[in-house]
Amino acid sequence: MLRGGCFCGDIRYETGGTPFYRTNCHCSICRRTTGAPFVAWFSVRRSEFRLVHGAPTRFGSTPKCMRSFCPRCGTQLTFENDEAAEEIDVTTCSLDDPGQLPSEDHTHTGSRLEWVKLADGLPEHREARPAAWSS
Ligand SMILES: [Zn+2]
Ligand SMILES: [Zn+2]
Repeated sequence: MLRGGCFCGDIRYETGGTPFYRTNCHCSICRRTTGAPFVAWFSVRRSEFRLVHGAPTRFGSTPKCMRSFCPRCGTQLTFENDEAAEEIDVTTCSLDDPGQLPSEDHTHTGSRLEWVKLADGLPEHREARPAAWSS
C-alpha cells in the first residue's frame, strides 16, 4: 500500500497495486500548475486509488485532462486523461515516501527548460510516454 497526501494534511490518499509507470514530466502544463521545473508522476489503476481524507479541487487543464490539488495548501495531486480511463497519475512527491518510487524516464523533454541539465542516464522522450506504455 502506498500512502500520501498534500502538504497541509487535509487531503490523504492510498493506493494498492503496483505502479506501472513512473516518469519525470517536463511539459509546460505540469510546470505551470506546480511552479516546478518538472514533475515526477507514478501511474496506477483508478480502481486502486482511494481518497481517505478531504476533497481535492479538480480542474480541466486541457479539454480531456483533469488535475486535482488541495484547495487549502495547493499541493498538486493527480492527473486523469479521458483517453486513459483506467489510469490515474499521482505526483510522486506527494507520497509519504517518494524515495521508494524513482522515475524511470523523462517525458515531454521537447519542452524541457534549457537550464535543466539531465545527467541521470534515464531514457528521454520528446513527447509523451512511448507507445509500449499506452494503456
Ligand atoms: Zn493541503
Ligand atoms: Zn506534464
